[in-house]
Amino acid sequence: MERKDIRNKLMRITVFMVAGILVLFGIASSVLLYINNTMHETIHEQMEQEASEYKTRLIKQIETDFEILHTLAAFIEYNGINDRETLAEGLNLINQKNSFITIALIDKNGKGVISTEKPGATRNFFLSQLQEPGKTAIERAMEGESLVSPIFISSNLESQIYTYNVPVYNKKEIIGVLSASDKLEKYEDILKGNTVMGGNGYIHIIDSEGKFLVRSSKTVVHEQNMTSIFDGPYTNEKNRQLVIKALQEQKTVFSEFKYNNENYHFYIQPVGINGWYILCVNDLWGYVFFFRQILTVVGVSAAIMLLLMVFFMFHGYMLLKKSYIQLMNLAYFDRITGAGNIWQFQQKFETLQKKDENHSIVAVNIRNFKFINELYGENEGNKLLCYIKKVIEEHLHPDEFFCRDTADLFYILFKEISETKIRERLGSIIKQVSEITQNDKHGYETRMYCGVAVNGDMVHSILAMQSIKRNLGRDIAFCDENLYKKKKKESQIESHMQTALQNEQFKLFLQPKICLADGSLSGAEALVRWQTGETTFIPPSDFIPLFEGNGFCAKLDMYMVSKVCNMIRNWIDEGIKPIPISINQSKILFHENNYIRNLDALINRYGIPPSYITLEILEGLADSNIEEINMKIRQLHEKGFKVSMDDFGTGYSSLNTLYQLEIDELKIDQNFLREASTDKSHRRWIILEQIIKMSQKLGIPTVAEGIETKEDVDKLASLGCNYGQGFFYSKPISVRDFNKKYMG
Ligand code: C2E
Ligand code: MG
Ligand code: MG
Repeated sequence: MERKDIRNKLMRITVFMVAGILVLFGIASSVLLYINNTMHETIHEQMEQEASEYKTRLIKQIETDFEILHTLAAFIEYNGINDRETLAEGLNLINQKNSFITIALIDKNGKGVISTEKPGATRNFFLSQLQEPGKTAIERAMEGESLVSPIFISSNLESQIYTYNVPVYNKKEIIGVLSASDKLEKYEDILKGNTVMGGNGYIHIIDSEGKFLVRSSKTVVHEQNMTSIFDGPYTNEKNRQLVIKALQEQKTVFSEFKYNNENYHFYIQPVGINGWYILCVNDLWGYVFFFRQILTVVGVSAAIMLLLMVFFMFHGYMLLKKSYIQLMNLAYFDRITGAGNIWQFQQKFETLQKKDENHSIVAVNIRNFKFINELYGENEGNKLLCYIKKVIEEHLHPDEFFCRDTADLFYILFKEISETKIRERLGSIIKQVSEITQNDKHGYETRMYCGVAVNGDMVHSILAMQSIKRNLGRDIAFCDENLYKKKKKESQIESHMQTALQNEQFKLFLQPKICLADGSLSGAEALVRWQTGETTFIPPSDFIPLFEGNGFCAKLDMYMVSKVCNMIRNWIDEGIKPIPISINQSKILFHENNYIRNLDALINRYGIPPSYITLEILEGLADSNIEEINMKIRQLHEKGFKVSMDDFGTGYSSLNTLYQLEIDELKIDQNFLREASTDKSHRRWIILEQIIKMSQKLGIPTVAEGIETKEDVDKLASLGCNYGQGFFYSKPISVRDFNKKYMG
């Protein structure tokens, strides 16, 4: 995953987070809006309910008053109105029992008797003497209508009054009208009190023009100078028309007004009598104070919670971002150079493989990087790696990529398959890296070597690279099919070696060592064979170098020593006189700390004299500290073992160096004999003779390997070579065959 991908991922998280916050805000506002609406609805419902209740009370009062008058009218109908005295007394009596101010009976001629509040104050009067609204109402009642008069100010009482008017019949003929007056204040009692909206509102009665008829004493609005709702704050530009229309059409209306910076609701409902309306005002603030408080608490808590959530989300997001980037860096980037790591490389490579595009993978390594680290310190090594990263980066074309795997191993992917062009590009990288390191203060030369796999993979490139690991003359190698097959075979061998050892597939073979002077058997060399089938064997040349490289050889060699010990033990047990056996010892085994102790333990376990064991060490060992090797040889001598130098002539050691080693025998490599046999100028023979002579002088017996002909035997014998090994005598054979042939 690239930084771009990380950025995109983080971008997505950010978008999700912002969306999340917006959704949260949305939910919170919706909840608040819902609460607010519900509150408004509740208020409206409450007001509607209150107004209806008061309207019912009002109507009930009016109906009760009418009922009284109707009863009285029926009574008069029954008794007639001729006896005015009795009638007046009756009216007085009735008036004392109810709340009317006056009750009057007016006959068809406009002559009437009236009873006022004070008992006995009954007097005669004429219709024409009455005030206009009262008079008109009586006239309408004479026509047969029962009605309430409009409200008017009584000239006697100087207060607002209205009258109830019902016709009085006699034999279905109207003979007069009963008219009772009442003060409008009466309704104030109904409207009074803290019962309206639970004490958080008040009710007025208004007429169809908005004029106040009856007012509750409890108002929020100062109404002293107001005669109608249009005079004060109740209506404004916005709701005036709405209210007028509702009043005209006898409809209900809800509206709001603002007064002294507070919001109030009002509701108008027609009573259905005389164009009266109930105006219900809700002290919104007061009424919803509790709700408001809840709302405020909820709102503030929600805001705090939201802020906290935003904070934590943001904090979490930042932490996530940080750890994500850290994780990504750890997972996909190299800590030292900042280049991509092998995981990133593999992912990109897999994507490329899916597209089936031409490519080359290059494995790049630095010769002796280990020494740069050791000599100049890890920091210098890291600096070099960073520099190489920079150089590679500069040489990449679009869509090409690279990584640092471990230590000094880099992989590059070129979108290039031409060998010439790849060589050019790699040559330039190698040159640039080499130049800069030569020019810096340490002045060491960094030599890189590369393995290229055209349309191959990392394994192929590594194989190619390893093929020139020891070849200082080559910097670039291409992987070919043979190399790949060889490596495949090697990896198969490596994957089977452990089980092969457990299953005893490694067999001990013996090749006789013959005394050249008389042809007698003087010993034998133990040689390993890997038996894979009844008659199939893998030769040591196919696996020994590999095992030397991976360290398994040390294990195998000790196994061979134990097999030899076992064989000698069997000879002794069977009464056969043992012969000395030479066993090949790898360099890595020879250097092991407990090497001698382990050998000693084996000898003791089988109870065999160590003088029967000759340990063959390789010329290559002489590269190490001679004194150290001699010390080990001395310790082996002390234990009773013999030491032979094998394959002499294959390495680069000088004779002088070699003769410093305290060995018991010198085995001349078979190639020496082979070259000498074909050398017409006899120069090889001369060297061979010198080696043999010099060994004789030092008292070191010589063994010639690879004797294939009688001539070889004769020539070597004449030169003074002591022993010989080779196909001329016998190929390496199994222990059984060897016993049959030589030990019988
Ligand atoms: P080496 O120790 O020099 O063994 C002699 C090799 O020369 C043997 O090959 C043998 O078969 C071969 N040889 C002997 N006489 C003749 C001849 O007349 N003509 C030809 N052409 N070859 C002859 P081999 O058995 O294939 O072993 C090869 C090498 O593998 C050995 O060379 C030795 O270095 C190594 N080796 C074999 N067994 C072991 C072992 O158990 N441990 C270790 N560390 N190395 C072993
Ligand atoms: Mg050998
Ligand atoms: Mg040899």
